[in-house]
Amino acid sequence: MKYLSTRGDAPPLGFVDTLLAGLAPDGGLYCPETWPRLTAAEIAAFAGRPYAKVAADILGRFAGGEIGRDDLERLCAEAYASFDHPAVTPLVQLAPDRFLLELFHGPTLAFKDLAMQILGRLYAHVLAARDRTMTIVCATSGDTGGAAVEAFAGLAAVRIVVLFPEGRISEVQRRFMTTTSAANVRSVAVAGDFDDCQAILKSLFQDEAFAAAVGLSAVNSINFARIAAQTVYYFTAAVALGAPGRAVDFAVPTGNFGDAFAGYAARLMGLPLGRIIVATNVNDIVARALATGDYRRGQATATQSPAMDIQVASNFERLFFECADRDAAATAAAFRAFAAEGRVRTPPPVLAAMREGLTGAAVSEAETARTIAATLRDTGQLIDPHTAVAVAGAAQARPQATGAPLVIVSTAHPAKFPEAVAEASGTVPPTPAAVRARAGVPERIDRLPAEVDAVKAYVRAFARP
Ligand SMILES: *Cc1c(COP(=O)(O)O)cnc(C)c1O
Repeated sequence: MKYLSTRGDAPPLGFVDTLLAGLAPDGGLYCPETWPRLTAAEIAAFAGRPYAKVAADILGRFAGGEIGRDDLERLCAEAYASFDHPAVTPLVQLAPDRFLLELFHGPTLAFKDLAMQILGRLYAHVLAARDRTMTIVCATSGDTGGAAVEAFAGLAAVRIVVLFPEGRISEVQRRFMTTTSAANVRSVAVAGDFDDCQAILKSLFQDEAFAAAVGLSAVNSINFARIAAQTVYYFTAAVALGAPGRAVDFAVPTGNFGDAFAGYAARLMGLPLGRIIVATNVNDIVARALATGDYRRGQATATQSPAMDIQVASNFERLFFECADRDAAATAAAFRAFAAEGRVRTPPPVLAAMREGLTGAAVSEAETARTIAATLRDTGQLIDPHTAVAVAGAAQARPQATGAPLVIVSTAHPAKFPEAVAEASGTVPPTPAAVRARAGVPERIDRLPAEVDAVKAYVRAFARP
């Protein structure tokens, strides 16, 4: 199985090289040359199987023989044993046709653990086999950083630098990054927003000499292996609710569009999904793009759902590529123009293809808070603000029941955002053990300006020789 850049100007790579590369050298994102297709019988056979087994099956299709089946089974079993619920991603029923898919039972209480726990183990496995070391630089809007620190701390072959936007994340999110004592981890508060952090990361990759010198790698959702790992819960949740025999709708809270794209990918792999409702907070670039075709950068606004305070949704490029019938030249032209002018005008046939399966919805701050309170009142469930954006987005996009069950993707535990949840609902979420364990632990934080050269010098000094 080979992976191609969306911009068509980078050599195709195998799965392991795609995993380690992160971003393609031409600035594009890797996608599989052809999506693995599952038959209806293969999908139906996932029913009742342990999550880790389904994950090994699906990742095996992406790895194309580069990682042995026994190794994959073992790595997946270890990765998902770190979750505190035997179902790994339990479904909780809210109403006859509405379910929450709880993706926050991993070690850092957000859905990023689903991909990061297996990524850390895959890196350790393949770097040991190749006798190599790497430097991971991770730009985070809050949750990726903690999940990456948890997954990579203490790995001998990896050094990791996490860049987070200073003052734009919750204290609980920050402590997951800053309280580790592992010598291979650095957490850096950048004087800027997430889009600045992500732009710096992309610039590091564009300096090929620098990237080669430090062995640069990225585990943001630009890394295709994350998308692959995130397709798994679309399969398990849909199958639990009757797929492939009936279509299932999903509502996904969206920032960088990685999670929602994984759902789109599951459909390309043969899973009969109904609509995917893509819900944003007021940072609504993706909802606007789906409504008007105008994918245009705005200024990011701080909200109660900070992991989605993003106005450049990197994975939108993968969607564009697929919906443009994989026309790499058109994708390259569109996203080079975006880098220069902050705008892509999606051609009408591409937009029509996007809208076939996706519906956008943007949710205001007031609506998010009201939704947290109403969900608690009506169902007894306390939800975090990101999940509330998906609940409210689904109500906008699907005001009446359609006959298809609706799965609302619940991306974080409410205790990750206790202030916002308490203010909206009057109820303080109980503090999980993972949060209690980090309270009062001294934090290690470095600070840098939002400048590529400053970050480059910092990473060079910390990287392995
Ligand atoms: C990262 C994150 C999101 C957004 O996911 P994307 O893949 O970036 O769209 C939503 N909710 C939470 C809690 C997150 O951490």
